[in-house]
Amino acid sequence: MIVLKFGGTSVGTPQGMNQIREIITKDNNKKLVVLSALSGVTNTLVEIGERLRKKEYELALKVIKKLQKRYDEFLEELFESESFKNKASAIISESMNFIKSCLEKPFTNLIDKELLAQGELMSTNIFNLHLQEHELNSALINALDFVRTDAFSEPDEAFINKELSDILVKQPAETNLIITQGYICRNAEGNIDNLKRGGSDYTASLVGAALNADEIQIWTDIDGMHNNDPRVVDKTFSIPQLSFEEAAELAYFGAKILHPSCIRPAQKKTIPVRLKNTMKPEAPGTLIHTKEGSGEGIKAIAAKDGIVAIKIKSLRMLMAYGFLR
Ligand code: ADP
Ligand code: ASP
Ligand code: MG
Repeated sequence: MIVLKFGGTSVGTPQGMNQIREIITKDNNKKLVVLSALSGVTNTLVEIGERLRKKEYELALKVIKKLQKRYDEFLEELFESESFKNKASAIISESMNFIKSCLEKPFTNLIDKELLAQGELMSTNIFNLHLQEHELNSALINALDFVRTDAFSEPDEAFINKELSDILVKQPAETNLIITQGYICRNAEGNIDNLKRGGSDYTASLVGAALNADEIQIWTDIDGMHNNDPRVVDKTFSIPQLSFEEAAELAYFGAKILHPSCIRPAQKKTIPVRLKNTMKPEAPGTLIHTKEGSGEGIKAIAAKDGIVAIKIKSLRMLMAYGFLR
């Protein structure tokens, strides 16, 4: 089994969804496909939440209407038949009605998390219907049924292993494309939560580790891990291979292509992680698979902003037990 994760820019346009379908149907092997929300949608949901928190209902409604328009146009372009378009419309209406209903009730953190989950719930439903319109054997499973965090907000890996395998054994043998949402989960209390921004990579890695997948593939808008942040530096280039340790460090220290924690579950089980470009599938991308780095100089540089550094000085530090606490 291979786990493939497609990010927001990959699912963000009807052409992107067509391209994903082509990538996942190159062979008939069983695949688990993790999807993000359409690009920009999580940001929009964050904005709606902020407006609601500030009781700026008119501004919130304006943003909601724009979001509805985006989905209407998306469905119009993606689906060929009226019947599939109607099915998709009905599902999107459910989410949009939930979003609109937030205007009419007190806004709480619980509602905020439920609001943020709508992006992935909508994208996976649209994509699954798209596959079915193309007569492919796919099934949509709900990440809220098997991705859970514990009391320390860390993924509950034992729970994920058990629940996911219970769900998968119930799928018909001929279903070779299983679709699910990245990012969203339930917390220890059973409430809807998420794995923090960019969390779909983390879902893919957790799911890949739970299934002992042959490979975890992260498909995005760039051909793998570059030697520097291409948003900041010109003429960066893709690095063909990295060790788990190197990739984990780059992700942790700001290489946005990977969620900061997403290498660890794969590393624990030595499952190769391949970074690929959805719009350029022929490009080799980056393969993260070795235990040790090659040790040949500096491979890449990452940077992070919004960091608060606290410098602490004390006249009496030597042997001052408990000082940092
Ligand atoms: P997705 O929506 O597919 O998850 P992201 O925007 O989260 O995509 O991650 C891909 C982006 O990460 C790239 O478009 C690139 O701008 C940015 N990025 C930052 N640092 C790096 C790096 N070292 N190598 C590759 N991409 C990087
Ligand atoms: N949609 C979520 C976000 O924008 C998760 C992800 O894309 O990985 O942060
Ligand atoms: Mg991302």
